[in-house]
Amino acid sequence: MRCPWCSNPEGLSKDGTLMVDEGKLVDAVCPNGAIQNQKIDRSICLSCHSRECITKNKNLGIRFPCQRYSVKSLIAEVQRAGSLFYDGGGVTLTGGEATMQFEAVKELLSALKASNINTALETNGTHPRLPELFPLLDTLIMDMKHYEPGIHQQVIGIGNSVIIGNIKKAAVEHADTWLRIPLIPGFNDSDDDAHQFANFFKQLSYEKVSIEVLAYHEFGKVKWNQCGMEYPFKNGCLSNGRRKEYTDILKKYELNLIHT
Ligand code: SF4
Repeated sequence: MRCPWCSNPEGLSKDGTLMVDEGKLVDAVCPNGAIQNQKIDRSICLSCHSRECITKNKNLGIRFPCQRYSVKSLIAEVQRAGSLFYDGGGVTLTGGEATMQFEAVKELLSALKASNINTALETNGTHPRLPELFPLLDTLIMDMKHYEPGIHQQVIGIGNSVIIGNIKKAAVEHADTWLRIPLIPGFNDSDDDAHQFANFFKQLSYEKVSIEVLAYHEFGKVKWNQCGMEYPFKNGCLSNGRRKEYTDILKKYELNLIHT
């Protein structure tokens, strides 16, 4: 997916993205001349594998928020933190999109369940094998960004047929599914959109499904710049109170609405 309002753009590339705060950048941390006058030439970084600006000459102006872990080391870390998991605590996998690493996610969730650790997954719902994870998840959290396939394709870059299929399966097979609508101005925030979503949700075995509306925010905007990318979402802000008005429409359909 390529949602133009993404709040975690550093997760868009599976190989990670250098994040740069030019005001704090120190030219000398790069031995390859990629940083001059506090500006970075990312074309030089493409062929740099040592990343001495991060690994050796650290400074606050540059970081690489991507690290590789083996599944074993993650399991060991979770088990070390076990004493923190009281009162419903546990592990939530989120992203980026965790299911892009499907086999590793499945192995990790299997090990967590075997250790009786509570598990949750936040996913965009696009993985065709997602239902294989249902038995390993205490809570399944899926986005539903738009009900109309053409608009989904046009704005986000892919259609929604797999997502809809996974939502329908989850509503039948999974005991605790949360569906989230990210409320995006000009994309899915009209009254008609609210009615269309509600009509879709009413077709589900919705007593097992919770619905949450999340209001658009621009917290990710600065991160797009730090990743060297222009923030592509230009539709402005959500008006004050719009999330509540929208939720009020959904309430008329007697859906199981939540606000976390
Ligand atoms: S990634 Fe390599 S080339 Fe780029 S700033 Fe860091 S050290 Fe320099």
